[in-house]
Amino acid sequence: MSKLWFDKIKKIEPYVPGDQPNVNGMIKLNTNESPYPPSPLVRKVLDEYDVDNLRLYPSFKCDGLKEILARTYGVDKCNIFLGNGSDEVLALCFQTFFNSDKPVFFPDITYSFYDVWCDLYNIPYRYIPVDEKFEIVVEDYFGENGGIVIANPNAPTGRYLKLDKIEEILRHNQDVIVIIDEAYIDFGGKSAVGLLKKYDNLVVVHTFSKSRALAGIRVGYAMCGEELVSYLEAVKNSFNSYTLNSLSQIVAAACANDKDYFECCRNKIINTRERTVLELSKLGFQTILSMSNFVFTTNHSMKASVIFEELRKINIFVRYFDKPRINNYLRITIGTDDEMSSLISALEKIVAQS
Ligand code: PMP
Repeated sequence: MSKLWFDKIKKIEPYVPGDQPNVNGMIKLNTNESPYPPSPLVRKVLDEYDVDNLRLYPSFKCDGLKEILARTYGVDKCNIFLGNGSDEVLALCFQTFFNSDKPVFFPDITYSFYDVWCDLYNIPYRYIPVDEKFEIVVEDYFGENGGIVIANPNAPTGRYLKLDKIEEILRHNQDVIVIIDEAYIDFGGKSAVGLLKKYDNLVVVHTFSKSRALAGIRVGYAMCGEELVSYLEAVKNSFNSYTLNSLSQIVAAACANDKDYFECCRNKIINTRERTVLELSKLGFQTILSMSNFVFTTNHSMKASVIFEELRKINIFVRYFDKPRINNYLRITIGTDDEMSSLISALEKIVAQS
């Protein structure tokens, strides 16, 4: 019997996140999580939490968290839109802002969720090739388009685009929404948030998952003009009013209040990254200049896929993308100094076999 309903089903190729293996003694460097625990203020707020409150719906205004973020970035509460991880925030941005017949532009090598959201919402899109050094060529974003998305620093390369280049893209694209996905901005880059006053078509997206060590709590946010926030809120409220649960709200607020701890962890990660790049180069690896909490590296004497498998055998997990242009690279999250020393020793043995 033919199934008439079959043709009407939305069949989509989903985004595939990095593995979440759970092996004793593993070294997990595959999903750009923080190697350090969240701020001690997070533990305190959870210890003191009155569980009876969980019978109530969360605040959908999220005022407490918005106030802290507004202070942190020098914007107003009305410029902040919160969501269940920046993936959700970005998905809602795509759905809300990209409704043109013209293609949305983003780099050919970038966060591989962007084309998935376009497919999900039937948004036309065009990959704009990065150059041979994986750098974004800003002039390529000056043509007619239905919107622009740039991850800065980019993923999985870690390459950073300076703010004057971001502004050039904005200057040439004032009739469309330009999203700057700053998931990794705290590891050495400068946020585009200061450009919000000048460009009402700019949306800057951040996450608590990386520099704030809260991937498990799922909180992300967009910063943009009040009018854009109102459109995002309307779409979100047509789908789910309570995207951010009560615990996420208080945990993220506690974390955002601890600036010293945040600075300390990100500085440690940056220092470990620089040391790792040096150690990798001694083993013949060429690493793209990274401003993120990961490095993108290749070794011409051995296939990245082989190194990836060899590391996996000894429970060191890194990320490998079997995709054109980048299939001889590994993306390695920066862990603790000890974890990176173990990785380097393992790589030394692996490369010696080549
Ligand atoms: N943007 C980029 C560039 C990312 O790499 C990630 C993490 N996979 C995200 C957004 C989403 O992060 P989250 O949903 O944890 O906030």
